[in-house]
Amino acid sequence: PNPPYPDTAPASEELLRRAREVIPGGVNSPVRAYGSVGGTPRFMVRGEGPWMWDADGRRYVDLVCSWGPMILGHAHPDVARAVRQAAADGFSFGTPSRREVLLAEEIVRRVPSLEQVRLVNSGTEATMSAIRLARGVTGRSAVVKFAGCYHGHVDALLASAGSGVATFGLPDSPGVPASAAGETIVLPYNDLAAVEQAFAERGQQIAAVITEAAPGNMGVVPPAPGFTEGLRRITAEHGALLVSDEVMTGFRASTAGWLGLEGVPASGAPDLFTFGKVMGGGFPAAAFGGRAEVMAMLAPEGPVYQAGTLSGNPVASAAGLATLQACTPQVYARLEEVADALTTAVRDSFGRHGIAHRVQRVGSMFSVFFREGEVRDYDDAREQDAQRFGRFFHAMLRRGVHLPPSCYEVWFVSAAHGDDAVETTVRAIEESAAEIA
Ligand code: PMP
Repeated sequence: PNPPYPDTAPASEELLRRAREVIPGGVNSPVRAYGSVGGTPRFMVRGEGPWMWDADGRRYVDLVCSWGPMILGHAHPDVARAVRQAAADGFSFGTPSRREVLLAEEIVRRVPSLEQVRLVNSGTEATMSAIRLARGVTGRSAVVKFAGCYHGHVDALLASAGSGVATFGLPDSPGVPASAAGETIVLPYNDLAAVEQAFAERGQQIAAVITEAAPGNMGVVPPAPGFTEGLRRITAEHGALLVSDEVMTGFRASTAGWLGLEGVPASGAPDLFTFGKVMGGGFPAAAFGGRAEVMAMLAPEGPVYQAGTLSGNPVASAAGLATLQACTPQVYARLEEVADALTTAVRDSFGRHGIAHRVQRVGSMFSVFFREGEVRDYDDAREQDAQRFGRFFHAMLRRGVHLPPSCYEVWFVSAAHGDDAVETTVRAIEESAAEIA
C-alpha cells in the first residue's frame, strides 16, 4: 500500500522559511531541525492523547512526547483542568506560593532518600545548580561525567555529551572556555576501573560524579549490575558527591524514577538528584534535591547562591502536580504494555527483513540501535548505521508515525497510546522495515 503522506509538507516548509528569518536554524532546540535525518521538520499545531497534527493537517502517532514530559499523552483532561484553574488564579507572583509546595511535597514523597528539592525551570538549570552546590559543599572544582551522558547545555557538562551533541557529531562546543571544560573529567560509561583510576589520581580535587541514572541520551544504555553502587562507594570513599541525573528517568522508569526500579544501592543513596520533564507535565519545571543537610548549603540558608524569577511557577507546578497525581500504577502498567508491543514489533520486523538492530530498554524507556550486539557505552552507540535510521525515520513519517529524529534518542511512549496508536505504529514498523531492507 502507498504510504499516506508525501515527503513534502508545504505548510511546514512555509513555517520553516519564516522561522529561519527570526530563529537560528528555524528551531529553538537543535535536534528539532531533522539535522541528521534530513527533510523539513514538521511544525505541530495540536496534540491530543498519543496523536499530534502538523500544519498540513496530517496526524501522527507521537513517539517524541516532547522528549519525555508527555507521559500521559497530550492535553490530558486532568492536567488541562489544573492548568486552567492555576492560570485563572494568576500566572506568577515572585513570592512563595501554595502550588510549588504541593509539587515539592509530591516529589519528595515519591523518591526514597530525597528530603528537599529546589524547583527550577529546566533540566539544564537543575544540573548546573547541582554541580555548583556540590562544588560549594566540597570546596573542590573537578567534576566527573560519562561520555554519551547528556545533562543539558551546562558549560562544564557539554564535553562528550549525547543527545543533540551526538546527533550533530559536534566536538565540544565553541564558547565553552577551557577553564570550564578543564575541570571536567570525561570517562567511559560502565567502566568502574576508569572511575577508580581517576579518583586515585585526582581524588582530592573531585567535587562530584554526575551520571544519568540510566542513560537515555546515547540511546538507552542500562548501568551494568553494580555500576551505580560502585559509583556510590568510590565517591563516598573520596568525599565527593554523587549526582544522579533523573531528568529523563524521573517518574518515568517508575513512580520514583530509576531509583524506584533499581532500589537504593547497598552502598547508599546518591547525594543529589536532578529531575525535569515528567514533573513539569509539559511546562517549564525541573528540580534538584537531596539530603536536607546538603541542601541547607543553598541560599538563603547557606552560602551557595541559586535563584530564579519564575522558579516554582504556579501554572507549571499545577501541571506537574496533576501529572504526577495521574501517574498511577495503571499508567506504568500501560507504558510497559506499549513498550512491549513496540519493541516486539521492531525485533520481529527487523529480524524478518534482515536489518541489523539492537533494542535496549529500562522500564518503558527503550531505544533501537541500528547495529548488532550489546551497547555498553558511547563508543558502542556511535557504531551504528545512522544513515539507515534516517531512511527508517522518513518511512515511518510517511506512514504517520513521528519518531525522534535521531538514532541516539529514546522512543518515548505515553499511557495514552491506545490500541489504535499501537497498531498504526506496529504496521508502520513492518512496512518501513520492508522498505529500507
Ligand atoms: N539531563 C538529562 C538526563 C536530560 O535528558 C536532559 C534533556 N534531554 C537534560 C538534563 C536537560 O534538560 P533541559 O532540556 O530541560 O534543559
